[in-house]
Amino acid sequence: MTADLAARAAELDAQDPLRGFRHEFVVADGSICYLDGNSLGRLPKATLAAVDSLLTEWGSELVMGWQHWVDEAQRTGDLLGRTVLGAGPRQVLACDTTSVNFYQLCTAAVRARPGRRRIITDAANFPTDRYILEGIARDHGLELVILDNEADDGSCERITEDALGSLLSEDVALVTLQVVQYRSGARNDVRALTDLVHAHGALILWDASHAVGAVPLTLDADGVDLAVGCTYKYLNSGPGAPAWLYVRQALQPELQVPIQGWFAQADQFGMGPVFERAEGIRGFQVASPSIVGLRAINASLGIIERAGIDAVAHKAAATTEFIIEGYDAWLAPLGFTLLTPRSSGERGGHIRLGHADADAICHALRVQHGVITDYRVPDSIRVAASPLTTTFAEVAEGLRRIRDCVAARCYLDAAPRSGRVT
Ligand SMILES: *Cc1c(COP(=O)(O)O)cnc(C)c1O
Repeated sequence: MTADLAARAAELDAQDPLRGFRHEFVVADGSICYLDGNSLGRLPKATLAAVDSLLTEWGSELVMGWQHWVDEAQRTGDLLGRTVLGAGPRQVLACDTTSVNFYQLCTAAVRARPGRRRIITDAANFPTDRYILEGIARDHGLELVILDNEADDGSCERITEDALGSLLSEDVALVTLQVVQYRSGARNDVRALTDLVHAHGALILWDASHAVGAVPLTLDADGVDLAVGCTYKYLNSGPGAPAWLYVRQALQPELQVPIQGWFAQADQFGMGPVFERAEGIRGFQVASPSIVGLRAINASLGIIERAGIDAVAHKAAATTEFIIEGYDAWLAPLGFTLLTPRSSGERGGHIRLGHADADAICHALRVQHGVITDYRVPDSIRVAASPLTTTFAEVAEGLRRIRDCVAARCYLDAAPRSGRVT
């Protein structure tokens, strides 16, 4: 069986139209199976040069650099829009963090639906989203309604029209969901759920952090109102790189974000006494963008633009299929459970595997076996194959090491995990 999976991996790698792209990334230690690209993507070699050239610009141009840096958040936003979001120009900004953008747009949305008293999200949503909504509901006297999609076995995170429909009413101002669930990897039907929410007159905000760069997004065509996401996962733009926000063109005039920063001022350098918001997407910007971060996004998106998001998404579907094959053959007999949908249209770029000893297994894999996955409370690990950087051979080898580690119960004698981060 070992030989089978390894041989299939070799075959799949040979046929992979994206196989050349791995060489465009820094792979410092080829013996490591890096199966955590959904948490932090690898470093593109082009980013080294891009960051270096920004530093040179800064050194030589000094403050005059702002002449061309000033609108860079919009240019990078447009690049994100056309490369990975399915969004036309002047609707995306690359700025701040996903959390800040989420707060800004959710607050703007509830203010745009006065009189409606409810916000809906799901129990399995990413923690930052849930915590921020809790604060917004408190500050605006609204009720936060939580859709229960956390069954005991964790397998039912995908949001059905029935489950959401039963909570919708004319009292709902905003619904916010993830495109791909961060823990289970289940993918929601953006178009169908957006239509459903609109039928009740509410706004919808999609957090696409775990989807962007792994599945094709068509925000314009799907009629999405608002979306946010990060760039350091499948978009490989580096730790803390700026996030992005999307506001559908038609909605821009009626939405006002709570932080009225000077980059949103119509006559920014008039520096007048009162805030007068700029028209268009700049009205959603707060402040000076991180130019170094934007250059990192440009560099990594340049690679994705050449590869084509459809090819990237196709590879994500193929590698997750391959992980499921490995799970069936090797891991199910060892007490693992599959907590991600088997249908490729219903999942993103990572797979969630449950195991009673998941925490210890994940830790032992990292420190003893050179396999990087991540552990998510209470009892699962996530396994991803970032499409541009991960080979099928790397996946097969990683799965073999997981199997051998767990079969030998080697994790029982690994030193306990240290550090705050799982
Ligand atoms: C990763 C992720 C975030 C991260 O938020 P930051 O503000 O970048 O720390 C937010 N939401 C979702 C769904 C995520 O997967």
